[in-house]
Amino acid sequence: MRHGRRQTDDGRRTTADGGRQPAEVAPPQMRHAARIGQVFKQFALFAVAGSVLAACTQKPDAAAVPPVVTTEFDGDAALRYVAAQVAFGPRVPGTDAHRKAGDWIVEQMKQRGATVVEQTWTHTTRSGRTLPLRNILARFNPQAAERVLYLTHWDTRPTADAEMDPADQLTPIDGANDGASGVGLFVALADALQKTPSAFGVDLLFVDGEDYGEFGPPLVDVLLGSTYFASHLPEPGYRPVFGVLFDMIGDADLRIAVEDHSAQRAPDVVERVWAKAEAMGRGDVFVRRSAGPITDDHIPLLDVGLKVINVIDLDYGPGRSYHHTLQDTMDKLSAASLKIVGDVALALLR
Ligand SMILES: [Zn+2]
Repeated sequence: MRHGRRQTDDGRRTTADGGRQPAEVAPPQMRHAARIGQVFKQFALFAVAGSVLAACTQKPDAAAVPPVVTTEFDGDAALRYVAAQVAFGPRVPGTDAHRKAGDWIVEQMKQRGATVVEQTWTHTTRSGRTLPLRNILARFNPQAAERVLYLTHWDTRPTADAEMDPADQLTPIDGANDGASGVGLFVALADALQKTPSAFGVDLLFVDGEDYGEFGPPLVDVLLGSTYFASHLPEPGYRPVFGVLFDMIGDADLRIAVEDHSAQRAPDVVERVWAKAEAMGRGDVFVRRSAGPITDDHIPLLDVGLKVINVIDLDYGPGRSYHHTLQDTMDKLSAASLKIVGDVALALLR
């Protein structure tokens, strides 16, 4: 991991690994450390209670790990949808590729029977640039009162600022994992929801402008779409039963630890997701250890009282060397990883 700060040409502070980093560099977040420790102790107790129960009801030689359970979620299709996003080129707000990729998402969702709501607005960056931004909300079973919110960002970072070579740092990234993987996951989820509707109303939210600026702290020109959505909810009193942010979930070497803000602020949702993954025999991927606190699109939603957690694998490449670099390309992803996450995401809706 490459930590440390450097000055940009215009004097702004940024981080070498492009933000979203553990709280050892963000003191206010450390205030929650004790509480987080308690939550993890609770998880440990659940796990111990579970194995005691298993020991009482199973033969001694029975495997402790449940067999893998899958769903109709199509991981190969998800990977093709990821590739379709990447093929537009970097989806940097304000570019033609961004607009076309957004249009494509809208079209895919409509084709699969969703009611699509687009939120469009402009954001003026700190440097005075005006960005056209768009959130895309695809609603399945729109009349249902009990809803689940899944969100992912669809924009990509305008610069490969975590590259070591300054010559590469201004180049926009493919964002195969950081941007496109969540989109591919959601299009494949929509395939499944079209064939077998969920008992829940399902809201698939594609947020824009997650990755444009700097994560600081302070945050500058990032989390734009989720912040906008938090103050423009689709209806008054919008309160999904639970919400999950999926980000960077396509890594072929996938391991998803529990993000600390999620554990601290929505522990029941963490338990719901991790228990489901374990029951499906995926406790090897959804591991019960801390990922550290990560600043991401779930934060603005938690701040307005929505129970949303972050499912993310930030350990992307050796020393996170694929994160916010030109290495974030299709060859680092796998259909198998997308299927694992897609199976769990879909099973949570059944
Ligand atoms: Zn990013």
